[in-house]
Amino acid sequence: MIVTRFAPSPTGYLHIGGLRTALYSYLWAKKNGGKFLLRIEDTDLKRNSLEAAKAIEEAFRWVGLKQDGDIYYQSKRMNVYKEHIQKLLNEGKAYYCYMSKDELDALREEQMKAKQRPRYDGRYRDFTGTPPSGVEPVVRIKTPISETITFSDGIKGEISVKTDEVMDDFIIARSDGTPTYNFVVAVDDHYMGITDVIRGDDHLSNTPKQIVVYKAFGWDLPKFYHVPMILNPQGKKLSKRDGAMDVMEYKKEGYLPEVLLNFLVRLGWSHGDQEIFTMDEMLEFFDPKDINKSASAYNAEKLLWLNAEFIKNMSYVRFEKELIYFGLDLKNVDKKEVLIDALRERAKTLKEFSQKAGAILERPASYEAKAVKKFLKANAKEVAKEFVNYLNGYKEDLDIPADYEKLIVGFLEQYNLKLKDIAQIIRIAIVGSAVSPSIYDIMCIIGKDELEIRVNNLIQFMEKRDEQN
Ligand code: GLU
Repeated sequence: MIVTRFAPSPTGYLHIGGLRTALYSYLWAKKNGGKFLLRIEDTDLKRNSLEAAKAIEEAFRWVGLKQDGDIYYQSKRMNVYKEHIQKLLNEGKAYYCYMSKDELDALREEQMKAKQRPRYDGRYRDFTGTPPSGVEPVVRIKTPISETITFSDGIKGEISVKTDEVMDDFIIARSDGTPTYNFVVAVDDHYMGITDVIRGDDHLSNTPKQIVVYKAFGWDLPKFYHVPMILNPQGKKLSKRDGAMDVMEYKKEGYLPEVLLNFLVRLGWSHGDQEIFTMDEMLEFFDPKDINKSASAYNAEKLLWLNAEFIKNMSYVRFEKELIYFGLDLKNVDKKEVLIDALRERAKTLKEFSQKAGAILERPASYEAKAVKKFLKANAKEVAKEFVNYLNGYKEDLDIPADYEKLIVGFLEQYNLKLKDIAQIIRIAIVGSAVSPSIYDIMCIIGKDELEIRVNNLIQFMEKRDEQN
């Protein structure tokens, strides 16, 4: 069975790069009927917070990648790590090192002067004497000397490193007894039964160290997949300037979770030219061996385009559900389907949708000066009054947008006017500006009574304006 995991360090929020590796891990496990586990790497008590862990869990809930079983917290597994450090000490595979900070600094300086790579020189590796007093020792693992560590990475191919060149006897427990990163990752991946480790290639240099830990315990290695980073369009490290980093920012900006997943799955992986995938299709087609070997570029326009595509096809029920987050409750909106259809092609995000919908559903607090100047000329007040009269006397059904179109046609005929004489008046009356969806749609959305109120409000506004002139 394939078991994968995502193992974020809760130092802040869930990063979109992290979400991408989480998605890959999720897809790979689920497609094979395996398990996807979530482990919060919160051993560094100074840098991690409970709040950050909660934020990561919230982001996971939003995107709907549900882990199997309970979440693992490294902070709750300290005893396991301590036991394993002791085991290696007992077996002579790890040892106490009593070097003081000053001694380490002096060693480093010497090595730098001699143009050597700074590394611990192994001076306590076979130490049997009396330890110096006053030094709380660290625990170092015995890294094999002059060995080549080779592993096959599912994306990068075969990777070989010489232990002497890239490693030393690295610390597995600090002087206060707390275990270090590479040690706990290996221990956890083993006990969680992880078969496939999919993670960012910024961790590539950690893998040989973790392999040293695996070998010290005689454990089988998982398969590794190191995924290239996401870069900005200029080929540099992605930063806040290039787009949001925090997954929950995308929610606030009005992106749909499945859009983010679609966008991320394609950043570094492809299935022909297909851009839009259902979860079932992602599960069917995804294979980590098809992940690109080179870094991929973040493309904000593409994300926006994808979101717009999904919004165009979204169900009414889903709209109603999603818009609540943006403070828009459509429960009592009579013509919500007309509203949704009028705006779904015009809004690329739910945030934009809710702003545009709000502009129709709420009476305008003011009228845009430019539109007033351009469209509300001297005769506009008269036209608006004639329209209110006509509306008052209108006895036909006003139910769907086409009914309002008939109303307008009748009005224009009776007063011998053109559509342009009334269209912008109606727009400004309803939304406060000259930009809106079709006037028949927006009239229908607010209904006959509200239409009359809004046109009357605009008439009052024009009257005041004309008095002042
Ligand atoms: N905790 C690490 C991180 O947040 C990931 C460790 C791993 O995937 O092995 O980058």
